[in-house]
Amino acid sequence: MVNVWNWKFQRKRQELIDQFGGKCQNCGGTENLELAHKEPTGLNGRGRGSWHRYYDVRKNPEKYWLACKDCHKEYDREDRPMKILGVTVSHNLNHIAIECLQGIQALDLGSHQVHWMLLTESPYKGAGDMNIAFNQNKARQKAINETYDYMMIVESDIIIPKHALLTLLETEGDVIVGITPERPTKVKTDDFIVCMSWNHNNDARAHIDKLESFEMTGSDGYTCILVSRKVFSETEFPVVGSGDMGWYNVLHKKGFKVICQPRVRTYHKDIDGKIIKGRIGNE
Ligand SMILES: [Zn+2]
Repeated sequence: MVNVWNWKFQRKRQELIDQFGGKCQNCGGTENLELAHKEPTGLNGRGRGSWHRYYDVRKNPEKYWLACKDCHKEYDREDRPMKILGVTVSHNLNHIAIECLQGIQALDLGSHQVHWMLLTESPYKGAGDMNIAFNQNKARQKAINETYDYMMIVESDIIIPKHALLTLLETEGDVIVGITPERPTKVKTDDFIVCMSWNHNNDARAHIDKLESFEMTGSDGYTCILVSRKVFSETEFPVVGSGDMGWYNVLHKKGFKVICQPRVRTYHKDIDGKIIKGRIGNE
């Protein structure tokens, strides 16, 4: 006898699988496909029955991905390598500081899978911040679709240390931010951006001098940051408004933990070509 309920379920399940593209989003395989959590949805224990899962996927499609059995198992392994999308934006390839590219090339990747995008599209004439957000959102869409765990953003005039990625990864938080000195030609100081009074991070300087990480209450630049999937899957980079400052405000409103990690100390290439290093403690 045909089990009508089972038949109906299989048909509905197949519809969902087709909506997710019909193949494993990691390896492209088409056998043994499963709808797997990218992020928890609160579905657990008793609620894990097939229909419960079906309705949960329909309700929270952005929190699931389609995986073959092997990729699903690998994804859920606690010590698996992370998949990281690096992003550098500039309105022109020639304007990416060569020292920035050298820093990225020298980056210690550990066993992680890292892909880097250089994005130069400029749909908004003369509006630098809007172009940056536009391109970061393009990368964000790729990171969402291709199940990246993190986005790492390095601005085109920022020079990162070799250990930047691994140190950011081992720091706990939803967004981890390095420290970057300001450009004296712009604001007449080489103090760190996170310390600027208008960025509202109390005691930032004291933490930096002790090289200890701290939770940010205010904002910073995009400079050199690691953004977890939890954050980029539901938060866009604001194209309109106050650019990076606006983004940090949204993060705080949503309750994300934004941590500054002073051990990731970057250099800033100034407009006049000088490399600005900032100062820590008695330097
Ligand atoms: Zn697969």
